[in-house]
Amino acid sequence: MNYKFSEIVDITVMQELLDSFAPLYPVATAILDVDGKILAASSWRRICTVYHRVNPATSQRCLESDTALANGLKEQKEYNVYKCKNGLVDVAFPIIIDGQHLANFFIGQFLFEEPDREYFINQAKTFGFDTEDYLQALDEVKVFSEDEIKNLLKFFTKEVNILALLGKAYFDAHEANYKLEQKVKERTSTLEKTNRLLQKSQEIANLGIWELDIVNNKLNWSDEIYKIFEIDKEKFNASYEAFLQTIHPDDRDMVSKAYENSLITKNKYQITHRLLMNDGRIKWVEEQCETEFDSQGNALKSIGTVYDISRIKQIEKKLQRTINKQEALLKVQNVGFAFLKNRKFTWMNSVLENMLGYESGELIGKESRVVYPSEEYYLSIGKQGYPELADKGVYTQEVDLVKKDATHITFLVSMTALKKDLSEVVVVLVDVTETTKLRKQLEKVNKQLAEQANKDFLTRLYNRRGFEEHCKEIIELAKRDGSKISIAMFDIDHFKKVNDTYGHDEGDKVLKFVAEILVDVGRKSDIIGRHGGEEFILLMPPKTDKEEAIIAAERIRLSIQNSSIEKINKITISAGVATITPQPNDNTEKIADILRNQADEALYFAKEHGRNKVVHFDNL
Ligand code: GH3
Ligand code: MG
Ligand code: MG
Repeated sequence: MNYKFSEIVDITVMQELLDSFAPLYPVATAILDVDGKILAASSWRRICTVYHRVNPATSQRCLESDTALANGLKEQKEYNVYKCKNGLVDVAFPIIIDGQHLANFFIGQFLFEEPDREYFINQAKTFGFDTEDYLQALDEVKVFSEDEIKNLLKFFTKEVNILALLGKAYFDAHEANYKLEQKVKERTSTLEKTNRLLQKSQEIANLGIWELDIVNNKLNWSDEIYKIFEIDKEKFNASYEAFLQTIHPDDRDMVSKAYENSLITKNKYQITHRLLMNDGRIKWVEEQCETEFDSQGNALKSIGTVYDISRIKQIEKKLQRTINKQEALLKVQNVGFAFLKNRKFTWMNSVLENMLGYESGELIGKESRVVYPSEEYYLSIGKQGYPELADKGVYTQEVDLVKKDATHITFLVSMTALKKDLSEVVVVLVDVTETTKLRKQLEKVNKQLAEQANKDFLTRLYNRRGFEEHCKEIIELAKRDGSKISIAMFDIDHFKKVNDTYGHDEGDKVLKFVAEILVDVGRKSDIIGRHGGEEFILLMPPKTDKEEAIIAAERIRLSIQNSSIEKINKITISAGVATITPQPNDNTEKIADILRNQADEALYFAKEHGRNKVVHFDNL
């Protein structure tokens, strides 16, 4: 710490010291600061004040002496003796406090031996002094022995040092006090800042603080509590009872019990409860409270915090609802969820574990391939699924998996990529084993129904629709390779009579019988249909020409003629045959119409010309 001599020493006391010394010794004394400024001075000799320091030439010498003296002290000397150029002796010593050179003490304007009067008379002449008065002033200058001066110096050194040390002690005390004040100011300002911060943070955190002076039943609320409780600070007379009134009626008892209990157990407590606002809104707060007790165990004051957790409660509620939904979702029968990382199971719901017949956690860490019935199948699903997953982010497929007990289970699997590199996917699996079974059955039934829609109920031959469908296919084929195509149309002769004679049921039997003969005698690749009533139609395979077609129809006619049906007299059948070569650009339906019409015309001709005949259209 750097300070100035004048700051630690009362200069007036110094001056008094020098003045009180003056009557004892006729010698000049002074205290100068390190810059050469005179702080106190006494008893200066007339020879100096009237002569040496007045005349410009001698005054110049005085200045040189002062400088030489001061410089001598800078060299760390204990003291410096200097004989000035005007003939007097000066002594100076440094005042050093705590190692710091603060000032110089000066005793001067004396002599060590009787003066050489001639020298001074000369000096008076040289500088124009009044010789008589000048010599008288010289006589006023005291002659000291060196020992005397040393003793004086010792005395002053001690005296000045004591004063300086006292001063320094005072200064230090003052300084310490000042520092203390500064610290108090700083602390107060920090405290104020902290308080402001505390208030702000209470506001931001929705946290209020209260303090209850139990002895005087005085309740002190922070501003934030008023805000949370939505109570006007000016109108509310805070007390514990008043506080209880703000609590939701259903929670009041619980809150007061928690507090009373904490006074008995002397433990702090934490409680969550509701507040009922004037407009009926409900707020949730979390309270923490701690009570101070005296040495006898009497409660002195309670300090508590109130934290508005309404928003948290709201979020909690929402979150809980979401969790409930998710949990419900995870428990849905037949719906499995699994997470896969690098094709290994990292998590799955218990529903999936149950469906696959594994213990809880048994599949975690295992590769998904373990639930596939074969390695080839596993690879084929991956080959198909991963590109689509990379492309669309989702892949859905019906997959046949195998349970732990080796039985099969069919899932509708939907994979969703969680990461772009497909390293992580979430899989939803719906057990569709039963539905798949049902679907397969349904498909079978549908197929059967479709078949039936194309077949004649009585004869099991194609009906007109079924026949036409196949007919078109064959015409298409013939159109492509330019081959001939032939059909034969059959009609039972005098069928009305059969019905009339034997009844309709017997007539049906005849229809069935004729159908069987058509199937038996016809070639495998013939397409045979019931064209309506007791008319049948037969489409021959491609490349069947006119002659072959006539032979085939004739074979059928003969077969019927030669067969006998129980109870019924012989029946016969007539046939009309047609053959054409369709061209690639021909309309398929038109070709079918032409073929039918030609066969029909030929059949009509057969009927007209005695029945039980085969007639080809080309021969009409
Ligand atoms: P034609 O030699 O000129 O053909 O004489 P037809 O008696 O056979 O004459 P037509 O073709 O006009 O009569 C066909 C009869 O076939 C009329 C109808 O009663 C009978 N019929 C049609 N469909 C069925 C059937 O599904 N069952 C039975 N039992 N009879 C049928
Ligand atoms: Mg007919
Ligand atoms: Mg007929």
